[in-house]
Amino acid sequence: MIELKKINKSYQVGASPLHVLKDIDLHIAEGEMVSIMGSSGSGKSTLLNILGILDSYDSGEYRLNNELIQHLSEARAAKLRNQYIGFVFQSFNLVSFKNAMENVALPLYYQKVPRKQRNKLALEYLEKVGLGEWATHMPNELSGGQKQRVAIARSLITKPKVIFADEPTGALDTTTSHDVMELLRSVNQEGITMVIVTHETDIAELTDRTIVLKDGRIIESNSLHV
Ligand code: ADP
Ligand code: MG
Repeated sequence: MIELKKINKSYQVGASPLHVLKDIDLHIAEGEMVSIMGSSGSGKSTLLNILGILDSYDSGEYRLNNELIQHLSEARAAKLRNQYIGFVFQSFNLVSFKNAMENVALPLYYQKVPRKQRNKLALEYLEKVGLGEWATHMPNELSGGQKQRVAIARSLITKPKVIFADEPTGALDTTTSHDVMELLRSVNQEGITMVIVTHETDIAELTDRTIVLKDGRIIESNSLHV
């Protein structure tokens, strides 16, 4: 499903380039639930942004579902993201002036699905994440864990094949973090590939496999959990 060959990425910082990802080789099979660990600045978000076709890379090859992800137009990148990819972020990224249901429905608004239809589906996904009763509540009326559940419902509504989550539990307490991981696991068990960036060992241990980044290189990619 995800195949990276010798991916390199640098940022231009002032006069000199900063080499952030170095010869990254990585294979993630369909249906896997993996975590990416590494200290702050090791390149985790950069890698996830490349995987999510939100950012480009300098050399190497990235194939998603056998399609080479390289030199894509923004329109083609957006189409592939719509078709295949869901995103979950540490800070939830909900729209503050829209209620829970409208937030979940938002990706369908961009796909020009009529309001009634998208709200109906959004309600179904809210129910799926246990928040059916909270549909008309605004984000500021929800706890952190509830906001992340809304964000997960929003990521699911376009029926992605893979979800990329950047520190999805980073803003949550331990109990809530484990609840959110349980939800992500149940989503994974429906066949959706899951890639989770975290710097917490106890969160990584809840995935099938951990990929460890250090200074832009993979130093470990098959530490299996039981
Ligand atoms: P992590 O998510 O593991 O903390 P990042 O991928 O965010 O690491 O960042 C890796 C390195 O790249 C850091 O040194 C960071 O400062 C730098 N970096 C990230 N994004 C940019 C950018 N847009 N421009 C310049 N440098 C960046
Ligand atoms: Mg990061």
